[in-house]
Amino acid sequence: MDALTFVPEWYFQETCPSCRDNAKVRLGRLSIDNYVFGTRRIVPPAGGIPLARCAACGLTYKLAIPTPPFLRRLTALEQSELWLPGYDFAAELAVVHAHCGGAAYDLLDVGAAGGEFLRAAAGEGRRSALDIVRFDRLTLSAGGEFIAGSIDDPELHWSGEPYDVVTAFDILEHVYSPSAAMENLRTLTRPGGIIIIETGDTDAASANPLQYWYYLAYFEHHIAWNAQAIAAIAHRFELDLVSIERKRHKLAAKEIFDPEALAKYHCFRLSPRIYRTLQRWGRFDGSTPSLPNATDHMRVVLRRRP
Ligand SMILES: [Zn+2]
Repeated sequence: MDALTFVPEWYFQETCPSCRDNAKVRLGRLSIDNYVFGTRRIVPPAGGIPLARCAACGLTYKLAIPTPPFLRRLTALEQSELWLPGYDFAAELAVVHAHCGGAAYDLLDVGAAGGEFLRAAAGEGRRSALDIVRFDRLTLSAGGEFIAGSIDDPELHWSGEPYDVVTAFDILEHVYSPSAAMENLRTLTRPGGIIIIETGDTDAASANPLQYWYYLAYFEHHIAWNAQAIAAIAHRFELDLVSIERKRHKLAAKEIFDPEALAKYHCFRLSPRIYRTLQRWGRFDGSTPSLPNATDHMRVVLRRRP
């Protein structure tokens, strides 16, 4: 299956997927000719991928996104390409420990992939996973459960025993329905428990305008948050906003300065059109250069009211 032999299925939206307001600022179209997803290339719809920022809540969203079944099919095919283990999660564990002290805690990791974070957080208490695909290398501790599905599914099948800590690292940019996701996150968390979210931050985006931000050039990223959009949805679901801090993406946390990547990024920004043409000639089209060492993510801690 490649770009020539399968037909992408697109869903078009004109209202904010988070607050449902249709007042928006249009941000132009993504500067890509093709999406790259795992080993595949996907041709965008005829009008390209238009972007907008919700005038009511501040969420940035794509007006054309892959349909859920189409994305699920590709994810199942490409799972081995999509997550590269090798991160220690020390910063994330520090946040969990700061909240829980030394006490045992039940932990649910949303989008657990191969269970990398659950293994890093080994200890007393249930260690559970929620994901659309059960990865072969996922292991759960005694009493832990695997919840099959997406965090924005209207109905999740699970034990009904909520968690002290629910983590969603690099998940909320993938959801189709932020409201359903937040409702589930709230239900999965016990009163007084915390939700730790890591996601991109459009206020700290390394490219302006946003249509040139590599983060939105990902096929599987449908939306992008900022502090305003997070605060708005937390408020709607009666979750207390404990903290928001800027950070690098977890896999870029230890990246060292790379002058070649910096030069590439500036060539792209000087003339995206010429850069794209050179990409096509050089047969490396699809990727969007990113500013090295960018601090363009945020870590958000929410607490469910006791
Ligand atoms: Zn909105």
